[in-house]
Amino acid sequence: MAKPKVLVTRKIPPPGLEIVSEYCDLDLYEGYEPIPNAELLSRIRDKDGLLCLLTDKIDKSVYDASPRLRVVSSYSVGCEHIDVDEATKRRIYVTNTPGVLTEATADLTWALLMATARRIVEADSFVRKGLWKHWHPELMLGHKVHGKVLGIIGLGRIGEAVARRAKGFKMKILYYDKIRKRDLEEQLGAEYKDLEDLLKESDFVTIHVSLNPDTYHLINESRLKLMRPSTILLNAARGPVIDQKALAKALKEGRIAGAGLDVYEKEPIDLDDDLMRLYNVVLLPHIGSAEIETRSKMAELAARNLISVLKGQMPPHLVNPEVLKLRPLSDVKMM
Ligand code: NAP
Repeated sequence: MAKPKVLVTRKIPPPGLEIVSEYCDLDLYEGYEPIPNAELLSRIRDKDGLLCLLTDKIDKSVYDASPRLRVVSSYSVGCEHIDVDEATKRRIYVTNTPGVLTEATADLTWALLMATARRIVEADSFVRKGLWKHWHPELMLGHKVHGKVLGIIGLGRIGEAVARRAKGFKMKILYYDKIRKRDLEEQLGAEYKDLEDLLKESDFVTIHVSLNPDTYHLINESRLKLMRPSTILLNAARGPVIDQKALAKALKEGRIAGAGLDVYEKEPIDLDDDLMRLYNVVLLPHIGSAEIETRSKMAELAARNLISVLKGQMPPHLVNPEVLKLRPLSDVKMM
């Protein structure tokens, strides 16, 4: 039997590529930058499977170009770059890589919190520029973290992992989510708040919801106004959850104390973006899961998801389970 044909849109860590090439006829886009759309549309034409990244827009045009496509496996937990509803209509399986990047992203969020509160990036630059002349009681004063109030928006996998870190810092934990999580409230000592109260009462607000129509600009101008001038806002989820222009304005006017961001409305962020000129902001290039071990695990999981579907087996993480009714796995099986 001929091997299924699969397009992988970027060089992912070895375990993933090894698994895909063992079972499939692999077409690998080797560029360092995202695959150009025209090339994606051309190379997907004869493919049974696609392993893509969050930088690839997978929409109707891709499905139109690939009549044989059975599975889209994303090397990410977020799937907003994929038109999942349309994939389901076309009986295409969509998979993602949750779980393996939870602790890595929570660690990065914590690094961002500490760096923003204690002005780590600014202080490093101060030393390197030769500006450090004396110890001074008021040099690089930052915000206390220990014992403060942390508001978590989205107590899912990563939100919960961040809460566990906050416990070590004896912080009071507030959270907001679509539904109350009473078991976690008990385990973490977390208190449920509606969004407005959480924003009013927190010293640090950290965002961990997925991006969906309800969370787009969840933090907008009026909600930023609810926060205190001493509050720090963190986002290691997805950029469009915050109205970035409104955030820059709030920071400039001193209506909140600072922000630590790993994600932006448009990535990469423009060099002339207002945020670039503010010192009370720490800006990272979307590196939440960027650990050697974690990226390898993501690659392996993305490959296993893809291969499972092509083998007619249940993948470890199926995003659109409704597809099972429209096209049973036995119909998808190619090997
Ligand atoms: P998760 O377990 O699905 O957690 C997301 C939480 O947000 C869930 O509890 C979810 O509730 C809640 N939520 C969704 N929509 C909501 C709404 N409208 N209002 C209130 N709560 C809402 O996902 P995760 O694994 O923790 O990942 C969270 C997000 O982090 C991902 O979607 C991804 O975008 C981002 N991420 C970023 C990086 C990075 O590199 N910076 C790395 C990994 C992940 P339900 O479960 O009820 O929907």
